[in-house]
Amino acid sequence: MQQIGHFIDGSIVCGTSGRQADVFNPATGEVQAQVALASRAEVDDAVARAAEAQKAWGATNPQKRARVMMAFVRLLNRDMDKLAEALSREHGKTIPDAKGDVQRGLEVVEFCIGAPHLLKGEFTDSAGPGIDMYSMRQPLGVVAGITPFNFPAMIPMWKMAPALACGNAFILKPSERDPSVPMMLAELLKEAGLPDGVLQVVNGDKEAVDAILDNPTIQAVGFVGSTPIAQYIYERGCANGKRVQCFGGAKNHMIIMPDADMDQAADALVGAGYGAAGERCMAISVAVPVGDETADRLIEKLVPRIEKLNVAPYTAGDDVDYGPVVTAAAKENIARLVQSGIDQGAELVVDGRNFTLQGYENGFFVGPHLFDRVTKDMDIYRTEIFGPVLSTVRAQSYEEALSLAMDHEYGNGTAIFTRDGDAARDFANRINIGMVGVNVPIPVPLAYHTFGGWKKSGFGDLNQHGPDAFRFYTRTKTVTSRWPSGIKEGGEFNFKAMD
Ligand code: NAD
Repeated sequence: MQQIGHFIDGSIVCGTSGRQADVFNPATGEVQAQVALASRAEVDDAVARAAEAQKAWGATNPQKRARVMMAFVRLLNRDMDKLAEALSREHGKTIPDAKGDVQRGLEVVEFCIGAPHLLKGEFTDSAGPGIDMYSMRQPLGVVAGITPFNFPAMIPMWKMAPALACGNAFILKPSERDPSVPMMLAELLKEAGLPDGVLQVVNGDKEAVDAILDNPTIQAVGFVGSTPIAQYIYERGCANGKRVQCFGGAKNHMIIMPDADMDQAADALVGAGYGAAGERCMAISVAVPVGDETADRLIEKLVPRIEKLNVAPYTAGDDVDYGPVVTAAAKENIARLVQSGIDQGAELVVDGRNFTLQGYENGFFVGPHLFDRVTKDMDIYRTEIFGPVLSTVRAQSYEEALSLAMDHEYGNGTAIFTRDGDAARDFANRINIGMVGVNVPIPVPLAYHTFGGWKKSGFGDLNQHGPDAFRFYTRTKTVTSRWPSGIKEGGEFNFKAMD
């Protein structure tokens, strides 16, 4: 059985806590590895070593740090296939999806190559007589990132690349469900020239997370995961005086106006609702057609597309639409929520409950589900299902559709499909959600913009990646300096004034 340890001071080490977790192959349901779960003492030791390594790294000029990022990009491209395979094997997503996971992380690393420019301070010449004022961005010291299972390459890179480029040491606590790719990323960063100890990967569960939150050396914590844990980490981290940003769960609505191109809307919904088995924080999980006629046309287009989805393991070829969900517990949770939808009166138009795949009976596969006539009070509407289940809520007007999305407690992403520029513009301006698509179902901002949800989808200030990441991982120091002037009025130099 493969054993996955921690990455400390540039080497893979075994855990010493005596605690481990099983890592599954979601396609077969078999345990394929065991990952060490770090104790508080192991985390504290990794942090102390990182603090030592950070001193020289923080003093390294930003261009040299950027060159490490440049080499990292080259190595990520070199190992793309290897990374994607390892990722699919533990997560279950298709190979193209896994490559997308690596690619969207890689793009943030590319952005971080601009660190010398992004870290440039500000300067005011002659703020007063003989007085100059300048602000500089300095690293925080040791910072940490706690990341979810659903993007095991992208989200660790979103966190560690900007933190490292800013001159911090970084403690990564990846998801214990798919820890191999984060370990591979650490090895690639070492190969790219990152000094030992500047990046430490501690695998673990709540014990490791609590150790991070309580360790006084750690100055900032970035988290991505479910909302209850996001809120917990935000509160405990802040109570311990840290800078904290936490990104949580989602329930993303897509509004379909009567004038939308219905084929385009249906294609977009199938990709955004069922891709990666719905295990994306930017997945569309609620379709809101405006008007019953729109709803009927949409459902008519959706059903055959959903029934045609090819649900299979990533090894089955390039035309697989999505694979298994991550664990048996995730599968059971989805089944429970689907049953609650039926019990609470929603209409199950596509029923994926009896889905089985020959040869993969023990895998965590879930067939696609489509609900119609879902209402606001139902559990399937209020809860993040994180599976291949799309709910249709019929709205009678644009205002009703807008209010639905606005009243939901989550505010990660949303989209409107329409040909009407006025409606799209009004929607983008009024909606209280962080990322908005106009005829774009998954509006994930590119690396040089920032990513972040509102309401219960985001806690704390500043977004992920883009310029905000450089603000989050640095603090500003402003220096006011005054030198006795040796220059006489009229420009003649007065040497006596310098004595
Ligand atoms: P999760 O909350 O279960 O786990 C996230 C991290 O928290 C993991 O590293 C895990 O080890 C740790 N953790 C779990 N339970 C903990 C506890 N009780 N105390 C302390 N730490 C704990 O999330 P997940 O299932 O890995 O990921 C899926 C969730 O992440 C979904 O809700 C999804 O919407 C969300 N997500 C959000 C974004 C975003 O940017 N908003 C992006 C990706 C995923």
